[in-house]
Amino acid sequence: MTLDEARELYKCENKNQSKVELSKERYITRRGVVWLGQTCNLNCYFCYFKDKIDDKEHPEHPFMSLEKAKKIMHTLRYVYANNSVDIQGGEPTIYPQIFELIEYCNEIGLAPTLITNGIVLANEEMAQKFKKAGIKDFLFSIHAIGETYDRIVGLKNGSIKQMKALKNLQKYDIPFRLNCTLTKEAGRQLIDIATLAVETGARAVNFIAFNPFADQQGKRDLTDVPKYSDLKENLQKAIDILEENSIEANVRYFPICVLDEKYRKNAYNFQQLPYDSHEWDYNSWTWTTRFNQKTKWNELDKPIPILLYNLKEYNGIDFSKWSEHGTKQHYFKDVTDYEMFELMLQLFSADVPKELLYKNNAKLRAEKHTGYRKCQTCQNCDIEDICDGFHGDYAEVFGMDEARAISIGEKITDPKYYIKEQLKVVDEF
Ligand code: SF4
Repeated sequence: MTLDEARELYKCENKNQSKVELSKERYITRRGVVWLGQTCNLNCYFCYFKDKIDDKEHPEHPFMSLEKAKKIMHTLRYVYANNSVDIQGGEPTIYPQIFELIEYCNEIGLAPTLITNGIVLANEEMAQKFKKAGIKDFLFSIHAIGETYDRIVGLKNGSIKQMKALKNLQKYDIPFRLNCTLTKEAGRQLIDIATLAVETGARAVNFIAFNPFADQQGKRDLTDVPKYSDLKENLQKAIDILEENSIEANVRYFPICVLDEKYRKNAYNFQQLPYDSHEWDYNSWTWTTRFNQKTKWNELDKPIPILLYNLKEYNGIDFSKWSEHGTKQHYFKDVTDYEMFELMLQLFSADVPKELLYKNNAKLRAEKHTGYRKCQTCQNCDIEDICDGFHGDYAEVFGMDEARAISIGEKITDPKYYIKEQLKVVDEF
């Protein structure tokens, strides 16, 4: 399917889309994330949860009950003070009680987004039902257009369904943003995807680089992983097309130095993500990502705070035992209620700035949880402190000779240094 053929399907004569203002305000996000269960109507070869989706016996495969999902939402709202939530499945549009869950989120002040492949939304009646239930917006994964998409997701005519879904979202004024995984194939279609985003009225587009997290660790088909520099030209052209049409563009998990100066404001790595109101709160994410919050079967864990890292002391209070990666305290395993109470009191008393907690947690995610690497060039780079470097798996395959030390004349420590210049949709704080 060409872009022209796609256009015939997504073109909406009677579109009725409201506009949104873009802003340079930056706050730490208050958006939580929930995984309802790894059940899906597609089978994308690069899915982070592919093994769990394939294996019906996997404890994270079945959807959890509405009652459990509501308890998680309640905790996000009233323990973590989140004001919005990304609901994921697998595929959340096929969760049997999805409309009740959306209504509940709205009742408690948690604006619900569904991260979806959009296939269900090809059905106009279903799109209307989501609108009626109170969906805030969809984050719609469009990894390519046409047969390429169908091959990636394993569904014949899947792309046709997506185009029909985009038409329905325009018709009923349901806001949506797009996610696009930067495979080699997608890299060739980025300009078409940006054009589609403009013509359908997407509010933002996230281009997401190779990041073999979760089930993809060590298994990703490397023949489909492009070099960052091979993506650069089309990626930057796509950003230009989007920004000329006042659409927010974000590039996630992409070394900042590979992008030209003008596009560094669009780069969101672990330290920048908390300043995007559509990304996840590291505090509540620390809890929801744990096994018991992702299964149908088990009782919920007690809420826990953001993991500390590289914080030996603050205002005379010693946090060293909590900040050492790999200790039982670090993972809050076998920690007594008293110890947890003590930690919370220490955090409150020391008045550790939220920005510092989130910056250090971002470093923990990059350095320890996902194995990002830096090289000799990075040592001479003025933004080294706010950059993740290269993903370890990527560096293993391609090396790091694409790194270019950035010279500013001073060492930059504020993660917002570039992104504060970006115009984006900023949800209510
Ligand atoms: S720290 Fe390294 S990877 Fe990051 S921008 Fe600088 S040179 Fe590039």
